[in-house]
Amino acid sequence: MRWIIFRCIKCGAPLYAKESQKSKKCSICNKTTSLKIAYKIQYVDDIREAVGIIKQMKIPSDKRKEIIEQIPRPKEKRPLIDEIMSIIKEMSEKSEKGITRSEIKERLIDFGLSEVKFNEILDFLVENGHIYEKNIGYFKSI
Ligand SMILES: [Zn+2]
Repeated sequence: MRWIIFRCIKCGAPLYAKESQKSKKCSICNKTTSLKIAYKIQYVDDIREAVGIIKQMKIPSDKRKEIIEQIPRPKEKRPLIDEIMSIIKEMSEKSEKGITRSEIKERLIDFGLSEVKFNEILDFLVENGHIYEKNIGYFKSI
């Protein structure tokens, strides 16, 4: 079912209604707005989304900014390459001989890297001198 978000024809308050509805009475000024002529803002598929949008629209724009700023931001994600590098470093410090490609790959399984991407990253780390091939097939970090 689709929902329409529109403005009250009299007071401009944001309202929502089922798409199939003909009209809706404004909860603020009691004026009935015909959906045919209403100023439509947006269509959404979910009632919760409609309610959320209305809620946001009712907040004055200066307050809206304040509220958005109060939302805690997720900790900045470290770039993937840094994260992978530190994992490889940690692994290689534990192994005198070095670690194999498949050992590294196994550790990085949670990253969901494709074979191509994995090889790309490993090549990048080797080319840029972050890791080196100590013995054939065995990698160590610098
Ligand atoms: Zn109204």
